[in-house]
Amino acid sequence: MANQEDQFKKVISHAKEYGYVFPSSEIYDGLSAVYDYAQNGVELKRNIREYWWKAMVQMHENIVGIDAAIFMHPTTWKASGHVDAFNDPLIDNKDSKKRYRADVLIEDYVGKLDAKIDKEVKKAAKRFGDAFDKAQFLETNPRVLGYKEKGAAILKRMGQSLEKEDLADVKALIEELEIACPLSGSKNWTDVKQFNLMFGTRLGATAESSMELYLRPETAQGIFVNFLNVQKTGRMKIPFGIAQTGKAFRNEIVARQFIFRMREFEQMEMQFFVRPGTQKAWYEQWKKTRLQWHLSLGMGAENYRFHDHEKLAHYADAAADIEFKFPFGFKELEGIHSRTDFDLSSHEKYASKKLQYFDPELNERYVPYVVETSIGLDRMFLAIFSHSLKEETLENGSTRTVLQLPAVLAPTKAAVLPLVKKDGLPEIARSIVADLTWDFAVTYDEKDAVGRRYRRQDAVGTPFCITVDHDTLNDDSVTLRHRDTMVQTRVKIAALKDLIKEEISMKNWLQKCAQ
Ligand code: ATP
Repeated sequence: MANQEDQFKKVISHAKEYGYVFPSSEIYDGLSAVYDYAQNGVELKRNIREYWWKAMVQMHENIVGIDAAIFMHPTTWKASGHVDAFNDPLIDNKDSKKRYRADVLIEDYVGKLDAKIDKEVKKAAKRFGDAFDKAQFLETNPRVLGYKEKGAAILKRMGQSLEKEDLADVKALIEELEIACPLSGSKNWTDVKQFNLMFGTRLGATAESSMELYLRPETAQGIFVNFLNVQKTGRMKIPFGIAQTGKAFRNEIVARQFIFRMREFEQMEMQFFVRPGTQKAWYEQWKKTRLQWHLSLGMGAENYRFHDHEKLAHYADAAADIEFKFPFGFKELEGIHSRTDFDLSSHEKYASKKLQYFDPELNERYVPYVVETSIGLDRMFLAIFSHSLKEETLENGSTRTVLQLPAVLAPTKAAVLPLVKKDGLPEIARSIVADLTWDFAVTYDEKDAVGRRYRRQDAVGTPFCITVDHDTLNDDSVTLRHRDTMVQTRVKIAALKDLIKEEISMKNWLQKCAQ
């Protein structure tokens, strides 16, 4: 465990030291669970997004993309269930600093009264033997009636207080019942706060005319509300998909583990609209397709597994996570959900507009079923970054830190290094940079001994180093060093571009999806 924690700490500090991820507003000591992508991080993130987009949109003729606004009409979140289902009344214990859902604390208390009733029943059953009439006992025994009445009164009061948003009374109830923190036994509670995972904001300038809005907690709804627009204008035929990448916001109660769980994060989602009744087959198909996409990056099949959900969300008839082995264990990386017709039907109801598809083959109109693939871009970033960071012991006993990012995703593909800062070598190196920069991201580095420069590029994850030396002046060749193997080969300058392009080509990497 300690080892895992150490490894994770290394990941976080490496991400900062090499310009991948910074804590947000660090000069003000940061903001909890909010991070900024730095100069290299932004490139890695962009490349992951593009790798996903190409695989999902460009490579599927029946999938198109959109970019919906983060702000949406507030009724969207009524229809999606987020307004009602994302609300938790929270209370903190001041001594243990543990946070609880106030309603769960109270329900647990009532649960204990129920346990007392069970005890009375058992006792009586023993006393009366065969003559025991449980139903009658439950209806007449004064002690049982007392517990029942008390429990019912508590739940009623809690329900009414929550309904009225009278959170002070919810707290009063906890105090009257002398409910203690299960961890510390302390009854020192803060006030109860209503906690919706959605971030609220206001649209409009004046208090009277402004409208309460939410920052979207998922990108999916932007797709559902545009379903008909896209279907009609794109003349899409079922089955077809709509993809989108973008920011989502969740006021996570417990946000930790670096960029694994953030309050502002980015999702890459695709909603696939299918004929009712075919959703199960499509769900299985998308599970396979998405896993292949992950495997194409070469991070080891043993680091992925499916977790099928037994307890399903209100909208789903099947759901699975693709889990990845993060430094802190296997955790959800992507979700594949068979969402039925829940979302479109619900929007039909709330918007009083038909969101249906006329199926020319069936000669029938219906609300399509939806299979969703939903992956967190930041989580994917963390999966790749943490997996790629390696400490290696070399043959001569020295160690090196290397970030073995898949070359297709690396922020910088090649570093061009003149062996020395004189004799015309920098000029040749500069001209190589000027040529290659049209095709992919390259960098120039002339500071320090070449060995140190190699180490620096290893640590930042650059897959190739191109070294210009004195022989270059005569043979128009350079040394091409591969980050992972450290193998060096002599290559003509004119051949560099094609050689590197081959290694970083999305086509070559993505083709592994099809295998
Ligand atoms: P979790 O159980 O980890 O909270 P979830 O089941 O609520 O996740 P979904 O609503 O299915 O997540 O969202 C789809 C994907 O979005 C997740 O698989 C994950 O990669 C990503 N994601 C969700 N919440 C966060 C977050 N707070 N920070 C970063 N990524 C997130």
